[in-house]
Amino acid sequence: KPASSTARKAAGAKPPARLIIAVGSGKGGVGKSTVAANLAAACAKTGLKTGFMDADIYGPSGPRLFGLTGAPGLKKTDVGIEPLEAHGVKLVSMGFLIGERDPVVWRGPMVTGAVRQFMDDVNWGDLDVLIVDLPPGTGDVQLALAQGTPLTGAVIVSTPQDLALDDAKKAMALFDKTQIPVLGMVENMSFFICPHCGEGSEIFGRGGVRAEAEHLGVPFLGEIPLHPALREASDAGELTALGEGPVAQAFVRAAHRMIE
Ligand code: ADP
Repeated sequence: KPASSTARKAAGAKPPARLIIAVGSGKGGVGKSTVAANLAAACAKTGLKTGFMDADIYGPSGPRLFGLTGAPGLKKTDVGIEPLEAHGVKLVSMGFLIGERDPVVWRGPMVTGAVRQFMDDVNWGDLDVLIVDLPPGTGDVQLALAQGTPLTGAVIVSTPQDLALDDAKKAMALFDKTQIPVLGMVENMSFFICPHCGEGSEIFGRGGVRAEAEHLGVPFLGEIPLHPALREASDAGELTALGEGPVAQAFVRAAHRMIE
């Protein structure tokens, strides 16, 4: 319950990680969760003690992305809620607390309570990096995190087309208003390399996010191509960043720039 997190905070509880980085987007479906999970995996790959907080309360994808669908629920011990672990990353998600097909039908204050509990009452250990996967847009979760937790900064994921970028800018404006630094922007689905002919197609207009980042004066963390293997890996609970190849390297480079 929120009361216990308040008590812990009053007792001077340490933040769960040296760096707490929220990953947000304006719209859903731009690959925010995919990028967030792979940034976490890339951090773990470089030897950092890493956690992943799936704060997408209404649409948690953490369990699937980390290959933990059907995992047993979170356990509570004397030291707090025990996170699960997969691919070297500690993980909590609303998906571990509800049935896989159950919708979460909650009002704002309950969502705020859940986010605070994930931050304050989980036995994260001494993490180097905690990646927080936000829901799309600017809602209760964003506000709860902005106002009640020691966020280091935020990363914004967008596809390059104007429609997605317009909403990404709104998400960034919220962080700006709440004095949370934007650590950078990632362009997802930048371009597509046809597996048959090898020709590149810039389906959503490559480069829009880089241009916007330059315009806004925030770091550009990199381009992630639209790649069927990335979707297949995500569905299978494998994290592309842990493998080899250009997409894995793009995630590792983006993670480096993010924590620089
Ligand atoms: P969001 O968190 O923004 O709603 P998701 O990360 O859930 O988006 O991604 C939506 C869908 O698109 C998923 O099926 C995911 O596997 C797929 N996807 C995301 N990024 C890519 C990419 N770069 N290449 C191929 N598929 C992708």
